[in-house]
Amino acid sequence: MRQTWDAVVIGGGPAGASAARRLAEGGASTLLLEKQTLPRYKACGGGVPARTLQLLDGLDISAVSEGYVDTIDVSRFGQHQFRKRSERPLAWMVMRDRFDQFLVERAAASGAQVRDATAVQSIARAGSCYEIETATGKVVARHVLGADGATGPTAGWLGIASAVTRSAAYEVEVAAPARALEHWRRTANVDVGYRPWGYGWVFPKAGALSIGVVTSPKHGRGIRKQTDRYLSRLGLSEASVLQVRGHPIRYRRSTSEPVAAGRALLLGDAAGLADEFTAEGIAYAVHSANLAASAVLADDRVAASYTAMVDGEIQPELDAARLVSRLYYWCVTTWPWLALRTSEYVNYLWRAFFRVMRGESTYLAEMSRWIGPRLTVRLGAAVSELGNERLPRWMV
Ligand SMILES: Cc1cc2nc3c(=O)[nH]c(=O)nc-3n(C[C@H](O)[C@H](O)[C@H](O)COP(=O)(O)OP(=O)(O)OC[C@H]3O[C@@H](n4cnc5c(N)ncnc54)[C@H](O)[C@@H]3O)c2cc1C
Repeated sequence: MRQTWDAVVIGGGPAGASAARRLAEGGASTLLLEKQTLPRYKACGGGVPARTLQLLDGLDISAVSEGYVDTIDVSRFGQHQFRKRSERPLAWMVMRDRFDQFLVERAAASGAQVRDATAVQSIARAGSCYEIETATGKVVARHVLGADGATGPTAGWLGIASAVTRSAAYEVEVAAPARALEHWRRTANVDVGYRPWGYGWVFPKAGALSIGVVTSPKHGRGIRKQTDRYLSRLGLSEASVLQVRGHPIRYRRSTSEPVAAGRALLLGDAAGLADEFTAEGIAYAVHSANLAASAVLADDRVAASYTAMVDGEIQPELDAARLVSRLYYWCVTTWPWLALRTSEYVNYLWRAFFRVMRGESTYLAEMSRWIGPRLTVRLGAAVSELGNERLPRWMV
């Protein structure tokens, strides 16, 4: 007789692997399906915000960490502006193939069954369960967790119209010369001024640099040229390229965008849970995985309880990040000198940002200090209520 799994998780990225681990630890029979053969490359800067480790229950990731960043170097179109240093690590540097594989192994060690090279091909409702067609046969589940990333098909199959693509990102891994590795040791470059918004980054890895640009999808076609120009300003045009890959990032911009239906939940990038200020999504992927696992394990009005948790714990942060992002990018393209000097000399802003990255605070808490908790909540709700189509053009 065919087994009915308590939960089938689709996708072996940080969201899927973390959810599978938590579910298995909670005693649920869990199957994780990943379409690619693991370990697999994922276009990503590989900057894991320090707060992610708290969400991973303090997991020791030193086996797959390539160091950390505690300094932000700000430039504008390659022209150095200033550096700011945090007293503690801001983000751990990883290569996603090794990091994700590590998380999947943790899930397997907790009792989840893992099948890689197994693409899900369709999902159909069958009574109170789901029938999931895969490249190697059918599986049946009481709950489905769609963690198949920004381009995954699960949301469409389940009829959960989720966030639309909002930015294009392009990633190049280069084997940089030793002097460049030394220059960027423990330091991330953030290159600003891109129109209408976006930034370039350098994240240092053990023997390589991860370099990329994120911008509006409308400007996605020019992103490769922008990245080439950025590489040239960094003096790395001749560096040997190890990987080049583009990938979209989606953003959930309103609580009206569904993340669940019935016993099916969307996690991480599949639900558009990424931050519009930094374009990071790993912490939100893990956070949503934790929420999804607890909703499934409680097994009571699963979609409603997961949605309420995402709306209450994650969406306010995404709204606040979006507000910060639009103000900052607008200022830095409209009044670059003023914006850069303000961000250079108002150290409070950096300390606040560092606290958020390290998990010692949140965007909302930091904004509350300035404008009070009431106005912060109202502003957040107003931003959330502005549906995508009602946003001013410069915000999209
Ligand atoms: C260029 C770029 C740079 C970025 N840099 C950073 C950064 O430095 N820090 C940060 O925090 N975030 C960064 N992000 C965002 C981050 O990569 C994502 O938010 C994160 O990967 C989301 O994790 P996830 O588990 O939701 O999805 P993913 O990591 O995308 O995993 C989804 C998985 O699902 C699998 N899958 C898809 N379809 C199927 C199917 N049909 N069947 C089975 N499996 C399937 C895929 O193969 C994949 O392994 C970056 C994104 C981009 C594009």
